[in-house]
Amino acid sequence: LKKENGAVACPVCSSVQSTLNETYGGYRLYLCGNCDVVFADPMKSDISFYESSADYIFRDKLKIDPLKWDYRWDIQEFFKNLSSKKGRLLDMGCGTGFFVKRAADMGFEAYGIEFNERSVSSGRKHFGLDTLYATDLESFMLRFPGLKFDVVTLFQVLEHLEDPNLIMGRIKQVVTENSVIVIAVPLRGRWPDTYGEWIDRPPHHLTRWSLKAMDNFLNKNGFFIRRHNVEKFPLKNMANLIYSYILKIAPSLIIKGSADESDINSLSEEQALRMLKKRKIKHGIANIIGLPLWVLLRLLGAKGPNLYVEACPKR
Ligand SMILES: [Zn+2]
Repeated sequence: LKKENGAVACPVCSSVQSTLNETYGGYRLYLCGNCDVVFADPMKSDISFYESSADYIFRDKLKIDPLKWDYRWDIQEFFKNLSSKKGRLLDMGCGTGFFVKRAADMGFEAYGIEFNERSVSSGRKHFGLDTLYATDLESFMLRFPGLKFDVVTLFQVLEHLEDPNLIMGRIKQVVTENSVIVIAVPLRGRWPDTYGEWIDRPPHHLTRWSLKAMDNFLNKNGFFIRRHNVEKFPLKNMANLIYSYILKIAPSLIIKGSADESDINSLSEEQALRMLKKRKIKHGIANIIGLPLWVLLRLLGAKGPNLYVEACPKR
């Protein structure tokens, strides 16, 4: 990241009007006073992080995807708004192809790209999808020169990227003036905050987006927002809220409970499934216990964790 006179330049708008917001491990998080994005310094992700995270390993081992399952709201939004769009679709950061499969079933000619080879080979095997590629967009474009997409989706992807502008520049080369770009990200300023200790922080997430930051970012890259929506606080997040609260007051309880997930790499598919089932039961119970509080939170205007945006190229 460029630094001028000690100030840290925003990776989205290059402004140096940033203020230090938070420090986490070896990272500092800055709020850009110009475009409103929060960004990490350094803007460096860590691939080994994904290879050791239980959620990602669960995803790659199994047909069910604990990560995507948590974020189904944005995928529902997509099908609610765009199921009549049809045409050719590219899902960036497709994981095991959970969404690509659904889109293909709905009639899209659906492709997916993903940097994690393990996820792609797992998805090809489980879903029988031969349109998943372990590659980046640049190499994909070399493989299919001139291929254009009616829809490009980035579900929970943008916040992971080291260079958000670079990806928008490449996307522009594979869309037409009638295409739609769908972006879903964790909503900054969501209340209450149900993310766990590691999820919304570097090296996992390098940027945090408000609607204003997203609008500035898309405008700068030649797109405009045609529709957006913010999730309402879902009941299924009560478990996360309760766990994050326990983590604050009695961390040993949670750490003890999750210790058996730490060597998930060595588990068989059957063992991993059993572990995931156990986790789902625990979460289910916590959600039921949290039901009255959830009603109260919704009355108080609690927001869910996701921002959904549809954007089109400016003409
Ligand atoms: Zn900025």
